[in-house]
Amino acid sequence: MKILNFDVISLYPKAFETLNNMGVISRAIKKNIINVNLHDLRHFGEGNYKQVDDEPYGGGAGMVLKPEPIYKAYESIDKSPKSLTLLMSPQGKVLKQKDFVRWLGYEQLIIICGQYEGFDERVRVLADEEISIGDFVLSGGELPAISIINGLTRLLPGTLGDPLSLEQESHNNDLLEYPQYTRPPVFRGMKVPDILLSGNHKEIRSWRKDQMLKRTIDRRNDLISRDDLQNPFTKKKKNN
Ligand code: SAH
Repeated sequence: MKILNFDVISLYPKAFETLNNMGVISRAIKKNIINVNLHDLRHFGEGNYKQVDDEPYGGGAGMVLKPEPIYKAYESIDKSPKSLTLLMSPQGKVLKQKDFVRWLGYEQLIIICGQYEGFDERVRVLADEEISIGDFVLSGGELPAISIINGLTRLLPGTLGDPLSLEQESHNNDLLEYPQYTRPPVFRGMKVPDILLSGNHKEIRSWRKDQMLKRTIDRRNDLISRDDLQNPFTKKKKNN
C-alpha cells in the first residue's frame, strides 16, 4: 500500500509527539499508512546561536521568522513527484473537509509552521496553498498542522475500523450528522428516540435524513443554500 508522507518544518517538533498518543493516528503510523518526518527549524538557524528570527523591518512588536532557515529546511526535504506544500497562516484559506478529500491523492504533504509574529513575506513563495484552521490566532502553526495530519489520516484506507462511519458524518455533504445514541435506552430520565429502537431501518434512515437537515438549519444555516432546502439529498450528485 502507498504511504502518505508528512514533512513538517517547525521550531517545536516535540509538539508532534502527541500524534503518537492519538488512537487512530498512532495506529496509522504503526501500520505505515502515514509517516511523519519532522524538520527542526532550529537546526537550520544562522550562526553560533542558530538564529531563526529577527525584528521586523519598519518596527513593530514581536519577532518574525527569517526566510533563510525556512528555505534551507525546505530545500533539505526530498520531494516526491506528487508533493504539495502547505503554509500554516491565519491569513490563509479556511480549512474545509473537502480540502482533506482533495489532498488524498498526494504522496507527500510538506507543512510549514510559523511562530512568533509569523514569517518573512518571502516564505509565501514556497507554498502551494496557505491554510488557516479558523478565524482566530494561535501562537504557532503546530496545532493547525496536527489538525491537518489528523483529519487527513482518518480518511486513508485502513485507518478507521469501519470506513462506513465516514460516509454520513458532519460536513461530508455540507450537512451536520444526525443525533447519535448508544446504550442505555434511558439515562437520567433522557430517552433514546423510539424510532431508533424500532428495528425499522427504512424509517430510521428517513428520520436520520430529517435530523441532518434540521440540525444544519438550526446550527449552521450558512452551510446550505435555498436549492438544498428543496431536496438536500440531491446535492452530492449536483456537485459532481
Ligand atoms: N502576526 C500574524 C499571526 C502570527 S501567529 C498575523 O497577523 O497574520 C504565528 C503563527 O501561528 C503563524 O505564522 C501561523 O503559522 C500559525 N497560526 C496562528 N493562527 C493560525 C490559524 N488560525 N491557522 C493556521 N495557522 C495559524
